[in-house]
Amino acid sequence: MLGRPYLCGRICIILMADISAFTQTPGASTPPGGNPIPLFTTFVNASAQQRVSAVLTSTFLSEGKLVKEFESRLSAELGMVHPAALNSGTSALHLALEVAGVGPGDEVILSPQTFIASALTVVQVGAKPVFADIQYGNGNIDPADIEHRITPRTKAIMAVHWGGYPCDMNEIMAIATKHGLVVIEDAAHSPGATYQGQPIGSISDYTCFSFQAIKHLTTGDGGALCARDPAKAREVFRRRWFGIDRANSPVNELGERDYDLVDVGYKYHLSDYAAALGLANLDGFAERMVQRRARVQQYLDGLRGVAGITHFEHKTDRESAHWLFGFHVENRLEFIRAIRGKGVAVSVVHDGIDHNTLFGGRRMELTNQRRFDATQIHIPLHDDLSAEQAAYVVDVIKQGW
Ligand SMILES: *Cc1c(COP(=O)(O)O)cnc(C)c1O
Repeated sequence: MLGRPYLCGRICIILMADISAFTQTPGASTPPGGNPIPLFTTFVNASAQQRVSAVLTSTFLSEGKLVKEFESRLSAELGMVHPAALNSGTSALHLALEVAGVGPGDEVILSPQTFIASALTVVQVGAKPVFADIQYGNGNIDPADIEHRITPRTKAIMAVHWGGYPCDMNEIMAIATKHGLVVIEDAAHSPGATYQGQPIGSISDYTCFSFQAIKHLTTGDGGALCARDPAKAREVFRRRWFGIDRANSPVNELGERDYDLVDVGYKYHLSDYAAALGLANLDGFAERMVQRRARVQQYLDGLRGVAGITHFEHKTDRESAHWLFGFHVENRLEFIRAIRGKGVAVSVVHDGIDHNTLFGGRRMELTNQRRFDATQIHIPLHDDLSAEQAAYVVDVIKQGW
């Protein structure tokens, strides 16, 4: 551009303004636009206003045709198998455990690198969470640490895809097959992720998604449960609504549905007004994922070789959904203070959950989990993160801590 001065005038000024926005002044300590950069934002598509309003006007608020439409789009666009839309990701985990027949006396093996909802639902069904160690390089359960934790009471393995990066599903499935265990994926962070070309939501017995406010795809609160086995999927649909098979219980002459309740059901269905928000947010989902990946690449390129940072590993046989961007950092407390002081949110997001009284009340001897607890950190990644903001984040990290 500088070599073509005859272009000067309005175009020239616009181009220069664009470039200066992308190239932060080295040493800058105020985020572009002056506002702090949050770790997460809640994404609401502009079309949601109209879509949700239409539901309110119709007064048909509860589960109806929009929930069905949302489910068919989850299946068509994200590759989820038999998705049942529910009112939360926690409900999805709980219902998966129930339908899988996990109950009192059973054990479920999972990693502590997760939100408490994963292990809490295990306790809710009367079973015991048994913690296995993680891989220090990515925060996911270490298949090599699962097998020796298996006892005659083990019923299931719960695989949490930390930050959206898929677990070693082949190894986990092989262990499950060998020992006759059920596999449940906590995929709260990983809609749109793939493992060896297969979408998350199509691989194991049960996959649980969350549509909570700060997750990739929000319905305000909500979730989805995918059961691969069609009979189990039918059970999911029945038991998400009290245990009544809505589709096959016609209203009789007396005005009551014809059904016989045979097992415990829940009030876990999604509502149409929430599905309307989910449908609006599904529009452009793929494009937002492309943008998210571009920010991730920007971080990886910008932070390559920075002393004191060790990046998480990323195998090429799987594609993360990139809910989080994390790495290991030396002198973490100094890092947190320095980066936060320059208007950039940073967080561990979650510490290993095994220390909670409900789950045992102590930090267990899990070598990699304890190392992970001591060094992991996450920096902003969300749909509203601009290239300028990401450049600023890179710049302040490179200024040191
Ligand atoms: C968000 C989350 C959940 C719970 O989802 P809700 O929709 O809030 O119930 C479960 N597991 C993990 C790992 C999560 O991050």
